[in-house]
Amino acid sequence: MNDKNAGNTCWETELYYRGGVGSVSFAYEKLKSELQRTPRRWLITGVAGFIGSNLLETLLELRQSVVGLDNFATGHQHNLAIVRGNVGEDLWKGFKFLEGDIRDLEHCRRAAADIDCVLHQAALGSVPRSIENPSLSNAVNVDGFLNMLIAARDAKVKNFTYAASSSTYGDHDALPKTEDIIGKPLSPYAVTKYVNELYADVFARTYGITCVGLRYFNVFGKRQDPDGAYAAVIPKWVGAMLAGGEIRINGDGKTSRDFCYIENAVQANILSACAGPEAINQVYNVACNAQTSLNELYAVLRSELATHGHDYALEPVHGEFRPGDVRHSRASIDKAERLLGYRPSHSFAQGITDMMPWYIGTLSKSNAQPASPV
Ligand code: NAD
Repeated sequence: MNDKNAGNTCWETELYYRGGVGSVSFAYEKLKSELQRTPRRWLITGVAGFIGSNLLETLLELRQSVVGLDNFATGHQHNLAIVRGNVGEDLWKGFKFLEGDIRDLEHCRRAAADIDCVLHQAALGSVPRSIENPSLSNAVNVDGFLNMLIAARDAKVKNFTYAASSSTYGDHDALPKTEDIIGKPLSPYAVTKYVNELYADVFARTYGITCVGLRYFNVFGKRQDPDGAYAAVIPKWVGAMLAGGEIRINGDGKTSRDFCYIENAVQANILSACAGPEAINQVYNVACNAQTSLNELYAVLRSELATHGHDYALEPVHGEFRPGDVRHSRASIDKAERLLGYRPSHSFAQGITDMMPWYIGTLSKSNAQPASPV
C-alpha cells in the first residue's frame, strides 16, 4: 500500500490501491434488482468479443432481453457458446444474435430497432493495429460509430453508452487522469476513440440523444483473446507462461497501467445505461485508481500461476519501447463514483486471482503458442 500523494517514484516496487476498491456499489445492487423486476431491451455491439460477451452474460443473468451485433472480425462464436452454456437454455432465449457490420448503416438500423439501451463495444482495438492500418481502424471505429449513433437516434433509444478509451489522454502526463484534461493522441486508435467522444457530444446537443462514454483503462478477464499479433498483454503473457514461451517486455518494464477487471467494466456499463439526468452526456474513467508496472505484472502473473502448480522459470526479455504507447496511466475514478455510484468490486490483484482458473482451464488444454512481442 502506498500514500495517494506519494508521487511517481513507487511504480516499480509497489502496487497502489485506493481505498474503496473491493467495496460494494449499492447503486449497482439496487439497479440490478430493479432491472430484474422491469427488464429492458438492450443492444450490445461487439457481443462476440471479450467485453461484449461478458456484458451479455450479466444481462442475461438479470433476465434482460438482448440483441447482439457482431461481424466476428476479432470476436468468436465460441464466446457466445460459452455464455449460452453458463446461463442455460432458459435465459439464452432472451438473446437474439445478428451477424452484421457496423460499417453498414442498414445493419445498425436493424439491430437498434425497438431497443432501450445500446452498449456499443464494436471496434478494432489495439494501438499497433491502428498504426499498421489506420484506414481500417478509422472505418470501423469512426464510420461505424457514426452509423450506430444515427441508428440509435432514429430508433429513439433511451441511452447510448459506448466504449471510449484511456488512450484519449495521449501525451498528457498528469496523474491521476481526470476526465476534463487530455493531451494529444499518440496513435490513430486514440484519434478514433476521441472522435467518438466528439460525435457523441455533438449528437447529444444537436439531436437530444442520451450518450455516456466509458474510458476503459486496460480491461482484463475471462474471454479476452490471448491469440494473434494484437492480443492484450495479460492474456498474451498468461498464454506464453502456460506454454513455456518467452515473455518480451517492451522497454524497461516501468511502463504502468491501471488494469481494470472485467466485472468493474460491466458494472460501469449497466450503471451508465440507466443513469439519471445529472450523469448523462458525459465521459467517465473506468478503472481502479491504481498503478501496476509491467515488471510487477510479470511477477504477479508468475506467482499466481505458481499457486496453481504452474511454475514458469524464464526471465523476461526486454525489447524496444513500442510506438504510440502511453508511458504511465492511472485513472481518477472520482467522477464515476460520484455521478454513477460506481465502486470497483475487484482490485487488480483480486481480478487476476478470479481470472486465472479460466485461463488455465482454457489455455493449458489448447496448447498455446509462445507469445509474440508486446
Ligand atoms: P474485442 O476485439 O474482444 O471485441 C470487439 C468486438 O467488436 C469483436 O467481437 C469484433 O468482432 C467486433 N467488431 C469489430 N469490428 C466490427 C464491425 N465492423 N462490425 C461489427 N462488429 C465488429 O475487444 P474488447 O476488448 O472487448 O473491446 C471492446 C471495446 O472496448 C472496443 O470498442 C475497444 O476499443 C474498447 N476498449 C477496450 C479496452 C480493453 O482493455 N479491452 C480498453 C479501451 C477501450
